[in-house]
Amino acid sequence: MSLQTAKKIHAAVAEAGSNVATLVAKYGTPFYLYSAEVIRQQYRTLRAALAAEGLAARTHIYYAVKANDRLGILRVLGMLGAGADLVSIGEHHRATRANIAPTKQVFSGVGKSRAELMEALQNKIGQINVESLPELHMIADCAQALGMVARVTVRLNPDTRAGGHAYISTGSAEHKFGLSPRSAAAAIAEAQASPHLEAVGVAIHIGSQIVDIAPFAAAFARVNSFLAEIGFDPNVIDLGGGFAIDYTAGEPIFNLADYAKTVKTAFGARRATLFLEPGRFLVAHAGVLVFQTLIEKQAAHIRWVIGDMAMNDLLRPALYQAQHRLSVLSTLKGEASTANIAGPVCESTDRLEGQYALPPCPEGTLLALHDVGAYGSVMSMAYNARRLPPEVLLDGTSVHTLRRAITAQDFLAFED
Ligand SMILES: *Cc1c(COP(=O)(O)O)cnc(C)c1O
Repeated sequence: MSLQTAKKIHAAVAEAGSNVATLVAKYGTPFYLYSAEVIRQQYRTLRAALAAEGLAARTHIYYAVKANDRLGILRVLGMLGAGADLVSIGEHHRATRANIAPTKQVFSGVGKSRAELMEALQNKIGQINVESLPELHMIADCAQALGMVARVTVRLNPDTRAGGHAYISTGSAEHKFGLSPRSAAAAIAEAQASPHLEAVGVAIHIGSQIVDIAPFAAAFARVNSFLAEIGFDPNVIDLGGGFAIDYTAGEPIFNLADYAKTVKTAFGARRATLFLEPGRFLVAHAGVLVFQTLIEKQAAHIRWVIGDMAMNDLLRPALYQAQHRLSVLSTLKGEASTANIAGPVCESTDRLEGQYALPPCPEGTLLALHDVGAYGSVMSMAYNARRLPPEVLLDGTSVHTLRRAITAQDFLAFED
């Protein structure tokens, strides 16, 4: 059951044996509402595209935990067979708690601490994706101290421009991510020579919210020329994530069939196992943020609808100028007119991007913001002593509390 319209949200909640008003009464607003079935559909769609190119058996999906790290979400993906792509040891703890085996976890990230690396090795995380020579040396030190051999891939910076917004582009030479071809070659040579390192392969991740296949094709070509230059035949080629989803209409916009074809063309002749690390693609469409209006006001001819959802609940508009579709869950009367929607937080960036056509919204009008399952709640914060929103998962005929609200009262317990 998708969540693409108000009608579908109501239907999905009804199928789970509840209704929106009951959830609002139980959890208060704002709250995140997810559909497990949407996550499963996205996962199966991706697997089917790989299977169509004969890539199913040799391609493993490592869900990028940072997109949404709630245990209940990780369990849904773990049950489907996904591994986990981590950017901190905290994510390792969460993935492991959700029954994703450490051997099915990959540790990425440009700044891993020595303590994190020690724990990663001790807990037998399957692979560490290295982003610099100093990091490689730290890993070798840690492995030596533990009398172990660390399995590493080297993250190549393919110098490719891609990504939906400058802040989520990662694959250009001037970005902090990965190693230049020259340093990557040195890292692989060092890893091959070290008794404490095993160079299992190469990794890339060129950005997020990438709509076109061309930057992927360019990056794959760069990987192949790099491997040819240094004469390295890897066991693993990790292609990262970055597949775009449609925030304007909720339609499929990333051409998975073309992507799979491009992967096959680039790497079909190699023996390497392929890893993918999608985050956003798997979970973004699965979540909506339900909130209610507080007041309407007029300022310099601009109509403002003030809701109880703020930038601290969903940072994407303030951080990336991201625009999200909106549905009205209440029944409203009157003619629609253009409105800006803002929250109560004391920042001018605490408003939704763009404008919405809305009928007059009396206090308590229920609204839902779409496609917030990725990089939504995970980026929430308690600015202005607001609570962190509760999160609810619809799974078939049941409703689960994924995480209860973390309130201003809860935070008081951590202070003297
Ligand atoms: C963020 C990230 C991903 C996931 O990116 P999406 O755009 O959410 O698919 C994958 N791999 C690495 C290394 C990342 O940092």
